[in-house]
Amino acid sequence: MRTWGSFVLMQSRRLLSRQALVVGSSLLITSCSGNNGQTDAESVTSGAASSSTSMGLIDDARIQNADSEPGNWLAYGRDFEEQRFSPLTQINKESVERLGLEFEVDVYTNGALEATPLMVDNTLYFTTTFSVLHAVNATTGERVWTYDPQVPRDFSRRACCGPISRGAAVYQGNVYLATLDGRLVAINAETGERVWEVNTVIDPERNYSITGAPRVARGKVFIGNGGAEFGVRGYVTAYDAATGEQAWRFFTVPGDPSLPFEHPEMEMAAETWKGGQWWDIGGGGTVWNSIVYDPDFNHLYLGVGNGAPWVRVIRSPGGGDNLFLTSIVAVDADTGEMKWYYQTVPGDNWDYTAVQDMMLADMTVDGVDRKVIMQAPKNGFFYVLDRSDGELLRAHPYSQVTWATHVDMSTGRPVENTELDFFERPQWILPGPLGGHDWQAMSFNEAKGIMYLPTQDAAFLYSVDSEFKATGIFKRNPGTLNLGVDLKNGLTLAEQYADEQPASKGNLIAFDPLTGETKWSVEHPFYWNSGVLATAGDLVFQGDALGFFSAYDADTGEKLWAHNNYVAMLAPPITYAIDGKQYIAILAGAGATITNFFGSMEDVATMKYGNFGKLYVYALDGNVVLQQPAIVDRSIPEPPPLTATAAELKQGEQFYMSLCVGCHGGAAVSSGVLPDLRLLTPAKHGIFQQIVIDGMLAPTGMASFADVLTPQEAEYVRQFIISRAIIDRATAMGGI
Ligand code: CA
Repeated sequence: MRTWGSFVLMQSRRLLSRQALVVGSSLLITSCSGNNGQTDAESVTSGAASSSTSMGLIDDARIQNADSEPGNWLAYGRDFEEQRFSPLTQINKESVERLGLEFEVDVYTNGALEATPLMVDNTLYFTTTFSVLHAVNATTGERVWTYDPQVPRDFSRRACCGPISRGAAVYQGNVYLATLDGRLVAINAETGERVWEVNTVIDPERNYSITGAPRVARGKVFIGNGGAEFGVRGYVTAYDAATGEQAWRFFTVPGDPSLPFEHPEMEMAAETWKGGQWWDIGGGGTVWNSIVYDPDFNHLYLGVGNGAPWVRVIRSPGGGDNLFLTSIVAVDADTGEMKWYYQTVPGDNWDYTAVQDMMLADMTVDGVDRKVIMQAPKNGFFYVLDRSDGELLRAHPYSQVTWATHVDMSTGRPVENTELDFFERPQWILPGPLGGHDWQAMSFNEAKGIMYLPTQDAAFLYSVDSEFKATGIFKRNPGTLNLGVDLKNGLTLAEQYADEQPASKGNLIAFDPLTGETKWSVEHPFYWNSGVLATAGDLVFQGDALGFFSAYDADTGEKLWAHNNYVAMLAPPITYAIDGKQYIAILAGAGATITNFFGSMEDVATMKYGNFGKLYVYALDGNVVLQQPAIVDRSIPEPPPLTATAAELKQGEQFYMSLCVGCHGGAAVSSGVLPDLRLLTPAKHGIFQQIVIDGMLAPTGMASFADVLTPQEAEYVRQFIISRAIIDRATAMGGI
């Protein structure tokens, strides 16, 4: 029996540990027309006519000269530079108060939407969960065609952060789609029919996935993959855009040392990996988000991810930088031969990927005209590099950073904070594995020299796998995550170290990459918000976890307009123009993995209303009115009896924290997207084994876990869920 005293203590700790675990769990890891009313004077663009109806194939010249057709959004970051800055000005500081919803498109999913829509010649192309590709009319929302690559729905268990997709590419008459299960598909842009398909996966026994958008240039399609946490080795492949024939492949980390090097760069990289069996665990270094083509140098920049496992003493016990983890690697776009690299975090220990969006610009730095590449990777420093040779020009912190004191500009290396070594004891460290900034798009106003950047301060309690500490042995588990941190005891540790946890928050900041100055900052109550769009109308658009889509004054950060969509947003907005009318579009719908825990979740849209995937498109005088959805009843029903012993419950907790937490939430509190297991009905409790072991709900995305759980162990998990339901019911914490 617990006393009231211990209940109160438990509750206050849990209030803190909820925030904590947000981060831990997330990683697990993851129509109608309005009156336009415009006069000719209010032209859509600053000088250039809308050319959104121009016809013809998308080619390199068109992407490179995207400013000459500002009505279109031709590529992931709009053009090759990927600045995501639109020259359109019809929607501006003065007119934005007239902005309203023009139409919405239901995309039939309650999963996370992260894609950048493309708008080409009056058609919007975007991807949704399980890599479904949609083509819709950009002025009415009418469906043109849909392509479903038939990703097996239970494949979601094999991707860290849900069955998400960040977009497609349009090029030479095709739309290029990369699927969650690792295929690259060319689809005829007009008809929606498949032209060719290749499987990019080199080892089907490993959990390779793709969530990133392909990039196109030089007659080729470029694609990487994800899966580091599951134990894969990263690489990027170039395919002929017309035929799908492989042109080249660049591995990002060395493989089995008993086998020949695939290319010379691997021999160089292998010298920086020492001891251990990284190739068996996987090595990591996946390029799961950013690949940028640079026509000035014919470079292709690869943003390389974290090590697998995260903890370096497990991965490479003899030390070493572990190239090319957490690096920006420049390769020749035609051959894949490396030109230069810059490693942000030598010997990565924290899941500090350098996969975040990269951006090209021309800039005067210390009086010298430079062609630069910029990135705000997870590690909290904002990098400006010369893209001719990779020279480090700037590395100012853009968020709270405790893992390092600074970047030494003479060596280009970060200076680690040795006080936060987490081998002997767990340590709260900033940024956590969500990064100070993650994949959510930033946007750059080149004229102002200001980057609009979605950031977060979300600490993580780093620890080292308890079995490894006891035995010195780490065995890859093919069925689940291989992080090297003490995930299975994460809940217990978070409660134990709750008093040391830094506060969490999210921000939209206006950041000067050269001076490191934050010109203004808007604080969000919750830290996981949408990507950003900046326009020549001097506006910055962003959606948030509460369900509001807002426009801010680019110079001051003042909120000038907001619209309640009643659904949380992660994806970046885009803008386009057709027949003299400017539109803003954003995909809405948050994820299960990331939104698991907020400090208080009461106001989070997924908790209030659930989650429903939509494309929202706005224009001046748009007049579609959204109905407020019903508030979801998240009260916890009377749970079945708790029959497990304390030892069995502990086992149930450890299995839950290792296997279930990524989708259903830390301490069994879900984000409101996927089922909150504390709310299971007696009927669902009755078929728990059929669901978890037999895979009864596999067609809906809930895979069987029979390969990693015995029926008895599944019962321990159920008992743990019951125990959490009992505690949260008693403490009136309910669904939140
Ligand atoms: Ca990672």
